[in-house]
Amino acid sequence: MKTLATGSTIGMLGGGQLGRMMALAAAELGFKVHVFTNEIDGPTEQVCNAVTHADYDDKKALLEFANKVDVVTYEFENIPVETVNVLTGVINVFPNAKVLEVSQDRLTEKKFINDLGIETAPFKDVSTLEEAEEALKDIGYPAVLKTRRLGYDGKGQAIVKNEDDLSSAWKQLNNDSIIIEGFIPFDIEVSVVAARGQDGEVVCFSPVENNHKNHILDLSIAPARVEDEILNDAIDKATKIINELNYVGVLTVEFFVSKDGPLLRVNEIAPRVHNSGHWTIEACPTSQFEQHIRAVCGLPLGCVKFSGEARMTNLIGDDIFQYYELLKEKGASVHHYGKNESRPGRKMGHVTRLFPSIG
Ligand code: AMP
Repeated sequence: MKTLATGSTIGMLGGGQLGRMMALAAAELGFKVHVFTNEIDGPTEQVCNAVTHADYDDKKALLEFANKVDVVTYEFENIPVETVNVLTGVINVFPNAKVLEVSQDRLTEKKFINDLGIETAPFKDVSTLEEAEEALKDIGYPAVLKTRRLGYDGKGQAIVKNEDDLSSAWKQLNNDSIIIEGFIPFDIEVSVVAARGQDGEVVCFSPVENNHKNHILDLSIAPARVEDEILNDAIDKATKIINELNYVGVLTVEFFVSKDGPLLRVNEIAPRVHNSGHWTIEACPTSQFEQHIRAVCGLPLGCVKFSGEARMTNLIGDDIFQYYELLKEKGASVHHYGKNESRPGRKMGHVTRLFPSIG
């Protein structure tokens, strides 16, 4: 393990709320954070030690940044692979570029998961409407069309219930790199936030149950309310994935749990701390953010045990106007991401409640 001395500087690619919560955890452990972002006054920048404003393809700015930091990590999965490759030549970057290559393309991601013997929704890649029609004969209806790249929170997705929906869904996505997935009639969605240290130790947080509204995470409940065998199986699968990637840091695996067909299917993996792990700040001795910083800095992973139940609710768009009311609620831990403009669908903050309540 390459243990970084306290006082060292962590370089953070990306300047959103995940970077902000990692920077706060880094400060708790005695590390500094220098953020590299193309956004002015973003959530991370407000709480870190230094900032570089530049585009991710600005090689000169990247190399200057690498000179000023002791290790590099990232807080979102759409960092160009080339950016990480430029930096990897001169400094340690955790997690590695391989996981970005895998997770940025839904087709590569699904093949990688299936090659490990882990189930996903059935899928086919298509590039024309005619190919889509053909693929749907196998996959059947309903199905979900997804762009292979750059989709999140339901963006770049369309459900096709029957043949009549197909051409409008195809037009809506306006893309020739699409995968068609069978629609999984899941009972619940569950995610596992897993961490792997530089020494290969893997520690997983208790699997979480996730409820979405308008394709955006609304409520996470930990532990997920499913049988222990399913929870343990999800942890085993996440462990297999994180080990196979030779990963360092926190990685999240999202699953569909369905009594119809295989019990667990991976929906996607996120090479980063995750919205469904925010409850760990209050509920666990080591949060997902601290765990990531520990891994990246070559420190031992921390304890993630907890008892009782935790519920995390996102504050999306105008929900943030409940801020002052929520602060009056005993036992509610309120987080504001420092974004000055609320827009529909924008993650502005979150609130965590622990049960039994201490309020
Ligand atoms: P994704 O962007 O792939 O994470 O999808 C966002 C959400 O859409 C998921 O969390 C599910 O609620 C839903 N979804 C995506 N793919 C499927 C599928 N194949 N079957 C059923 N629901 C899906």
